[in-house]
Amino acid sequence: MSKIGIYPGSFDPITYGHLDIIQRSLSVVDELVIAVSNNKSKNHLISIDDRLNLINQSILSLPEKDLSKIKVEKFDNLLVHYVKSKNASLIIRGLRAVSDFEYEFLMTGMNRSIDKDIETIFLMSSEKYHFISSRFIKEIHKLGGDISKSVPKPVLDFLAKI
Ligand code: ADP
Repeated sequence: MSKIGIYPGSFDPITYGHLDIIQRSLSVVDELVIAVSNNKSKNHLISIDDRLNLINQSILSLPEKDLSKIKVEKFDNLLVHYVKSKNASLIIRGLRAVSDFEYEFLMTGMNRSIDKDIETIFLMSSEKYHFISSRFIKEIHKLGGDISKSVPKPVLDFLAKI
């Protein structure tokens, strides 16, 4: 049976850090669903449809053999319910620094309390991506800084227009 992993996040916007986690996760799962959160209470800069488009365009830089294993979808229900609806039991998250730990620890614990069969695994991105975060990308871009080393070309082009 093929192992399906769900990689949830806001991806507002997708960065090289996310792409690194996506590629690494393909050595762990047979199929990966990049699940883009459509949580209206979070103030996203980029609309859900544009975030999905940017992910679809950005993953084209991955090796072709990997692309057939990836799906990109949006979800707006509870993550554990969404994971179950995909017949999956594995959540993948990325870890950068200690600062990510507390949030991830709480989220994993909450998810486990709702559904004990769902496992979360954490992957670390390559050191060169440790300092990349969507939040900082947005701030640096707003102030006119160079983000070309942090986000793929489709994101760079998109942000240049808004
Ligand atoms: P969320 O709003 O759910 O935290 P994000 O899009 O910010 O969504 O992140 C999705 C996941 O990717 C999280 O587990 C986050 O820690 C991870 N991630 C984001 N950027 C990086 C990076 N540069 N290196 C490793 N993991 C990352």
